[in-house]
Amino acid sequence: MNRMEMHEATPEERKLFYKEEWNKREIPDFILHTLSLREFGFDLDGTGPKHRYNQFITVGQLEDFMRSRAPYSAFASVALYERPSAREGWLKSELTLDIDAKDLPLKTCGCPPGIVCERCIDEARRVAMEFAETLAGDLDLRNIYFVYSGRGFHIRVTDEAIMRLEQNERGQIVEYITGGLIPTDITMALGYSKIFRERVARTFSALDEEKLLTARGMRKSLARRLMMEKERALEAIRKGRLDELSSFEGMGAKTFGQLLEFLTRTNLGFTDGKVTIDTKRILRLPSSLHSGVSMKCILVRDIERFRLEDAIPKFVREGERR
Ligand SMILES: [Zn+2]
Repeated sequence: MNRMEMHEATPEERKLFYKEEWNKREIPDFILHTLSLREFGFDLDGTGPKHRYNQFITVGQLEDFMRSRAPYSAFASVALYERPSAREGWLKSELTLDIDAKDLPLKTCGCPPGIVCERCIDEARRVAMEFAETLAGDLDLRNIYFVYSGRGFHIRVTDEAIMRLEQNERGQIVEYITGGLIPTDITMALGYSKIFRERVARTFSALDEEKLLTARGMRKSLARRLMMEKERALEAIRKGRLDELSSFEGMGAKTFGQLLEFLTRTNLGFTDGKVTIDTKRILRLPSSLHSGVSMKCILVRDIERFRLEDAIPKFVREGERR
């Protein structure tokens, strides 16, 4: 598998990127149109995003800053404020989901945690598409954007209907989207029950015996049987005939409950819920350089056609040719 060779950008490469390649036109409209209401944060030298509470009234001011400082990382708030330079007068905030390829709870490629390959990125992309489908189909949201963050994807939603939601309501959306809560009736044909079964099926299909054994109360013989007859188990999950799972030898009611709990918890791990509920979060600015891995953070217009090459800055491509 093709592990991406990522290196940290040097200060010279950062300067080159911001002088020659960075383009303010790559900042998405939903940020440009609300630029002066957002708090900007920067990591100027690779020691963390300590340079907070910045406000730019015009994109020209931001451009001057980016070109002259060539920051290690650049971020903008998901929130709009009356006084962004004081982080005061909160008006509203995007709904966001962070799907980090390096932290996916189940990887079929075998990358260790913290490392990504094209397959992990692809899995993160599939998860992002699933989540977006539910946001559009079940929650009727329309303004859904994908951003490649450098190590995975951000989903950013700007529909007015969700901009004023509070933390606990955002937390409920995370549970709904991920299948992170056991529904009262698992067998319902529509609504959350259906989403839950789809997510559980996806999680279950990516499991192997070793991972399944980390579920509380799971015996080796049962784990082996479930994996050997994975298709039969998956079929039962998808159709909502969960009672059929109890026909597996060794699956008592208690073990079944523990398995369901394990799958639900794993579902929740596909996104970082802390990001979603934080209405004052700063997220990496699309158009900017992720210097830790020398990749661009970019708005993804067509997620199905997104290729990693789209996010590779010129200095990396030209460095490879040399
Ligand atoms: Zn991988």
